[in-house]
Amino acid sequence: MTMPNGLTALENRLAKDLSLLELPAKPWVPERQHEGARVWDVLFVGAGMCGLAGAAKLRLTGVENIVLYDAAPKGYEGPWETFARMQTLRSPKTLAGPCLGLPALTFRAWFEAQWGEAEFDALDKIPKAMWMDYLRWYRAVLALPVVNETKVTEVLDAGDDLIAVRLRDAQGERVEYCRHLVLATGRSGLGGGAVPPFLRGVESRFWAHSADDIDFAALKDKRVIVIGAGASAMDNAATALEAGAAQVDMLIRRKEMPRINKMTGISSQGVVHGMRSLPDAWKYRFNEYVNSEQVPPPRSSTLRVSGHENGRIFMGCPVEDVRAAGDHVDVVTPFAVFPADFVIAATGFRNDFTGRAEFASFSDKIRTWKDGAYTPAMGKPIPFMIDAPYLGDGFEFLEKVAGSCPMLARIHCFNDAAMLSHGKLSGDIPAISAGADRLTRAIVAELFAADVETHFERLQAFDTAELQGDEWEDATPSLRLNKTA
Ligand SMILES: Cc1cc2nc3c(=O)[nH]c(=O)nc-3n(C[C@H](O)[C@H](O)[C@H](O)COP(=O)(O)OP(=O)(O)OC[C@H]3O[C@@H](n4cnc5c(N)ncnc54)[C@H](O)[C@@H]3O)c2cc1C
Repeated sequence: MTMPNGLTALENRLAKDLSLLELPAKPWVPERQHEGARVWDVLFVGAGMCGLAGAAKLRLTGVENIVLYDAAPKGYEGPWETFARMQTLRSPKTLAGPCLGLPALTFRAWFEAQWGEAEFDALDKIPKAMWMDYLRWYRAVLALPVVNETKVTEVLDAGDDLIAVRLRDAQGERVEYCRHLVLATGRSGLGGGAVPPFLRGVESRFWAHSADDIDFAALKDKRVIVIGAGASAMDNAATALEAGAAQVDMLIRRKEMPRINKMTGISSQGVVHGMRSLPDAWKYRFNEYVNSEQVPPPRSSTLRVSGHENGRIFMGCPVEDVRAAGDHVDVVTPFAVFPADFVIAATGFRNDFTGRAEFASFSDKIRTWKDGAYTPAMGKPIPFMIDAPYLGDGFEFLEKVAGSCPMLARIHCFNDAAMLSHGKLSGDIPAISAGADRLTRAIVAELFAADVETHFERLQAFDTAELQGDEWEDATPSLRLNKTA
């Protein structure tokens, strides 16, 4: 049952809650200009969930001169209605997610306002399109300043503690300036899809990464190989089967399917707030263990594949090579050669920065875990971990060589690549509000300190009297009279 006016009532409730909390706080950051142009206090690259939550928290804290640019069309930011091929989210429906401590901003409040509590109880998992709808509402109800179909193509130091950001949209190119830059660029973080070496020389018509735009209709009656055992591997295999592929074979290197979602098992506010303060060796140890145990694919995604007779799962069957064979490719494993019309590499993401041209001006200046923090005593040198940026307390990059790229101190890596330095606070739904809070506190402190002279001048210039002067009488003159007498 849909509830007429339910959303309006929720929006009124949110407005009231915000007013009770005196939010948004009054703007307090002095305005800046650069060569006559406006300077943003904070510019976000990306307006997916992390960008939205980070921007919302900053605005509630009185940093209102911000903007978010996203290359995607309005309402299609992030994976949900693009390359995410699952039917529902893995996350439980009750997660508070990006609500920033405001109950009326939760998914649950949004859902119940429209369909009621009984429907919420009956809901199993959140359909991914519904989650995208919720994010669209979140952006609208908070009036977040997102500009879509605008790609950030270059980032340069503009001097004077400012960052120049080159933007490209349908009108052409332009440069804008900001004081802090937040890279809310998603799961691909700063790298891109991790492509196994054996696929690199293969003609692109024969393969795709699971995060690519794949024409599944074209796979009807085709032989498809999916490499990998994670959630994306299952969902891509299922989507190919549902699109009518003749045969879908999943080739999985591990001998056994991972079954236990380890980090979910120990999730707690201790992990959320405590991971950052652990010694590096412990941070590495946790992440390496989770990586070695691997996260299982969701049960629903696995059943989606196994429900098809022409969907097969081969365990302990690593791909050794992929060879051109005329109108198809041969996928070579130790046990058999699989002829295939199309290969999908569901092989995750990397952190080596080279895939992102827009960050080329500074990517080689960033300090990573392999630049001194990582030692073999911590555990195996896993590429996506040792290549991850070694971040400061506010998600900011640090320099590999001191003094080589000062603007890095004002570029915040608010995406999945921050996981090893900060825990999972800037990627998944569960701890995103804590991440937004940590990011905001750091930027607010920096902005305040950078303008300390102006704030002191404001303090000196402030002359609104609370007392009018008629509230008391000075009794000292009577003391003087007594003394002379
Ligand atoms: C298939 C899949 C399923 C997932 N399921 C779950 C789940 O169930 N639960 C969960 O908690 N997490 C899930 N995740 C993780 C998910 O990515 C995050 O929860 C969420 O999308 C993170 O939001 P984000 O803002 O970091 O990234 P995204 O939502 O990916 O947003 C990043 C945005 O940055 C923009 N962008 C990037 N570069 C530029 C540029 N140069 N210029 C302009 N714009 C740019 C992109 O267009 C994109 O819109 C899933 C991820 C995938 C890939």
